[in-house]
Amino acid sequence: MNTVKHREACGICDQEKEKGIHLYNLFICCECEQKMVHTEPQEAQYQFYLNKLKNINKSTLYS
Ligand SMILES: [Zn+2]
Repeated sequence: MNTVKHREACGICDQEKEKGIHLYNLFICCECEQKMVHTEPQEAQYQFYLNKLKNINKSTLYS
């Protein structure tokens, strides 16, 4: 018997993960969520995450 697990591609790391959160239409895996929480605004990664999150706002404007 196969157990079908729900996997989704993370919008940040593009890898399919089972656990994560949904931010509007974007799926963010647990690992990326934790990284985002612990990223300081002065870090280069922060801008990277911000750009990803900007895409969410764009798409929800038209919904
Ligand atoms: Zn991820």
